[in-house]
Amino acid sequence: MFERIAIVGVGFMGGSFALSVKSVLSCQIFGVDINPQALERAKDLKVIHEGSTNIKELSSFRPDLVVLATPVRTFESIAKDLKECLSSETVVTDLGSVKGHLVYTVEKILGSKFVGGHPIAGTEKSGVENSVEGLFKGKRTILTPTQRTERDALEKVKKLWELIGSKVEFMDPFLHDVVFGAVSHLPHAVAFALIDALLLLTKRTGIDLFQYPGAGFKDFTRIAASDPIMWRDIFLENRENILEAIDCYSSSLRRLRELISEKRVEELTQYLKEARENRLRIE
Ligand code: NAD
Repeated sequence: MFERIAIVGVGFMGGSFALSVKSVLSCQIFGVDINPQALERAKDLKVIHEGSTNIKELSSFRPDLVVLATPVRTFESIAKDLKECLSSETVVTDLGSVKGHLVYTVEKILGSKFVGGHPIAGTEKSGVENSVEGLFKGKRTILTPTQRTERDALEKVKKLWELIGSKVEFMDPFLHDVVFGAVSHLPHAVAFALIDALLLLTKRTGIDLFQYPGAGFKDFTRIAASDPIMWRDIFLENRENILEAIDCYSSSLRRLRELISEKRVEELTQYLKEARENRLRIE
């Protein structure tokens, strides 16, 4: 299938992908990262065989698959570098959390062998030292082929994900961004904002409220410990969908505020009941 795989961005996701692939395929893995310490750690942990901070070295490694696993706003310039050092036969895919326009931008540079992908698996942790071999087992991976995507490249990428235990689903790149803008990007925005609100309340009251975290607060804000650069890039790259989702959330919060402020007991109960019932529908 693939014998020489290059991972660009040897962090949590790139590292987890490399470990997963190594467990099912006999292949050489080359890592590229701007951080030399990440490469050293990746070699020590046997996540990659070799690595370099210079992406141009891929021309001598001659990969048959390249996987982009850096923050999404780096993809365009990385694709331009790859264009200069890859053979036209190399399949390129990515693990990025945003698709939409980005898929078409990268495809325009790299051509029909680019297959957009987003594994629906992860944690708030970052860095190669937190890589997990079984991260993708039983989890969904969304692939976002376009009219131009070469069927053979798509089939190979799909097979690789299935081999490492993931369930593959195809989705239009723009639909992907609407869906994950709502179910993933909005909750992250809310978690970051909740911590920010607690900081404001701490200043206003003079009480260090972070000394009293309840279980609910910890559950709800776990994802606010995620990498700021990665999330800055996701928010900016999926800007329109996130703005719409934030507006929707703000109006729900305003309605809740109104019901509490005006002591509208029946409607408040109904609001909470409906929210509870819908939450219980999720497995
Ligand atoms: P990470 O911070 O753990 O790793 C990113 C790595 O990329 C770092 O080692 C960093 O040094 C390197 N890097 C940054 N810019 C680079 C560049 N220009 N060239 C080469 N290397 C560069 O982040 P992560 O959690 O592994 O996320 C990587 C990608 O996976 C992102 O696109 C993110 O949207 C996507 N993703 C993450 C999760 C998650 O839960 N963490 C889930 C799904 C998808």
